[in-house]
Amino acid sequence: MLKFDILTIFPNMFTGPLNESILKRAQDKGLINIDINDIRSFAQNKHNNVDDSPYGGGAGMVMKPEPIFRAVEDVKSKEGKVIFLSPQGKTFDQKLAKELAKEDHLILLCGRYEGVDERVRKEVVDEEISIGDYVLTGGELSAMVVIDAVARMIPGVLGTHQSAIEDSFYHGILDYPHYTRPRKYRDLEVPEVLLSGNHQKIDAWRKKEALKRTLLRRPDLLDEVELTIDEKELLNEIKEEMEN
Ligand code: SAM
Repeated sequence: MLKFDILTIFPNMFTGPLNESILKRAQDKGLINIDINDIRSFAQNKHNNVDDSPYGGGAGMVMKPEPIFRAVEDVKSKEGKVIFLSPQGKTFDQKLAKELAKEDHLILLCGRYEGVDERVRKEVVDEEISIGDYVLTGGELSAMVVIDAVARMIPGVLGTHQSAIEDSFYHGILDYPHYTRPRKYRDLEVPEVLLSGNHQKIDAWRKKEALKRTLLRRPDLLDEVELTIDEKELLNEIKEEMEN
């Protein structure tokens, strides 16, 4: 069971997204456990202040170190890994989601304002993760993104493990196109091969479409991924078709 401890000053932000659908079922089944901890309750000052103005002057406020140190010490376990959600961190991707899914205890620290006092970063944070090259108002949405992506990598969380394996990025390339009923909608037809019942042909079509998509939308991914001989041949075929 993977335990998530979220450290935030806005605990109410999490109640909706974490208590619906797959994440709710994963908690009910005991596959993950999520605790939301209010940093403010560790403030121990008259007005429960968690932020203060920056030394050296300048705009914005900074999250104070003491409540965060105390909150981390309160939830920390021997195997606990403290992750600070930060635009300055390592960019989150499927590979990192898979790695984090093997951990026992993740402590997700959500920043606000200008971020946290640098001493927090230096002393209590094990890893910084960014969810992309843009700046959000706080780390809460980032923590939810990380929890969602990590949780679905845990066997049993998704209905069929197969669906995670076929998703985009799992094998380093994008997913193939999906179709469902009706067979014809407003003159738009489902590709014939998917109705053929021939699973070999269907698999070959899907593999080719996935490679084609990756080549057209994210050619950078093909530089990283190790393709089989068959896949390399397929890719050459696609390139030739595109040239003609
Ligand atoms: N001054 C900070 C900087 O430039 O690095 C940005 C602070 S931001 C307004 C407030 C908080 O939002 C951050 O401490 C972080 O927890 C969260 N945050 C913002 N952008 C993020 C991103 N791309 N990924 C993860 N967390 C982010």
